[in-house]
Amino acid sequence: MKPTLVIVGRPNVGKSTLFNRLTRSRDALVADQPGLTRDRHYGHGRLGNKPYLVVDTGGFEPQAKEGIVKEMALQAEAAIAEADVLIFVVDVRTGLTSQDKVIADLLRRSGRPLLLAANKGEGMDRAVVSAEFYELGCGAPCVISSAHGEGVRELVELALAPF
Ligand code: GDP
Ligand code: MG
Repeated sequence: MKPTLVIVGRPNVGKSTLFNRLTRSRDALVADQPGLTRDRHYGHGRLGNKPYLVVDTGGFEPQAKEGIVKEMALQAEAAIAEADVLIFVVDVRTGLTSQDKVIADLLRRSGRPLLLAANKGEGMDRAVVSAEFYELGCGAPCVISSAHGEGVRELVELALAPF
């Protein structure tokens, strides 16, 4: 069985950058503007002899200011349904936001395996980052840098450990 890792999180946290690193493909657009990646992007990856499928959710990128919470809930449900493992990405540069908390709640309640990836962590103090994001109730954060690759292998190893 090829497990499906689904990357979720609010806009601009680095989901597509992580997707590119996990798939080594150019299929997912990486851009500074939030909201560019609207649809899902699927890619194949492999860690050693373990293949996996990875999904970049255009994710929690509401089209309108009204109904943001409802929109996020709908998108979260779709993401959860596809996932063997959810990879919830947050941004250590902007810190914890209220949107992160809403998403964390939806993901936690799904009961699916969930890993918290604290991205943009290059050059940051791991202990400080961990303490801040622990509050999300999604377990100990994996501090990573999708742009530079730090911590990404360890994250995937954790995600694939049960498979
Ligand atoms: P998405 O909206 O969640 O898909 O985020 P993107 O992957 O498009 O990235 C948003 C911005 O964050 C881009 O400018 C990326 O270059 C930047 N970014 C992504 N990962 C990292 C990282 O590990 N470190 C830093 N410093 N910037 C990053
Ligand atoms: Mg994106």
